[in-house]
Amino acid sequence: MGKGTQAKLLSQHTQTPHVSTGDIIRSAIQAKTPLGVTAEEYMKAGNLVPDDVVIGVIRDWMKSEDAINGFLLDGFPRTVPQAEALEAILEESGITLDAVLYFTAPIDVVKERLYNRARIEGRADDSMEVIEQRIKVYQEQTSPLIEFYKEKNLLKEVDGTKDIETVFGFIKEVLSL
Ligand code: AMP
Repeated sequence: MGKGTQAKLLSQHTQTPHVSTGDIIRSAIQAKTPLGVTAEEYMKAGNLVPDDVVIGVIRDWMKSEDAINGFLLDGFPRTVPQAEALEAILEESGITLDAVLYFTAPIDVVKERLYNRARIEGRADDSMEVIEQRIKVYQEQTSPLIEFYKEKNLLKEVDGTKDIETVFGFIKEVLSL
């Protein structure tokens, strides 16, 4: 819930660069790059962009200057294969993952927020039909990551239903910042 907003706040607070796969994909679609052309149909339909495409994006970003002193990933990984690829990339680079933030909220609250945002931002992937699909995709493909990271003792759960400042307070608490 509000992960993009919280990622920006955390990035400022910790002076750590952050990268959002959603933002990269949206810019690529606007600029009509090959990535954008591939990704557009998936995103518009509320589906995930194929793993190999997104993994390539993150792999490239992690090689950039920005990534040298640590970073925050927003919206990645979203599937178990992406999480496994991330492990491999981090290992190659000698970087360890400190924590994974898991924002929780009842499904109705999520739907309402996405729907309101659709009207404010005019995002093409926020119609009611697409929202339902995104939730289905989350349940099928992304929610297995909860167990994946719980087992590795990396999962930090945060109540995502509160206002921006309160949620950010929870984040600082779970990360001991
Ligand atoms: P977001 O801005 O993080 O909500 O992402 C918006 C959309 O971008 C998603 O619904 C997917 O279509 C695509 N996307 C973002 N991150 C990923 C990812 N890690 N894997 C696959 N698709 C992604």
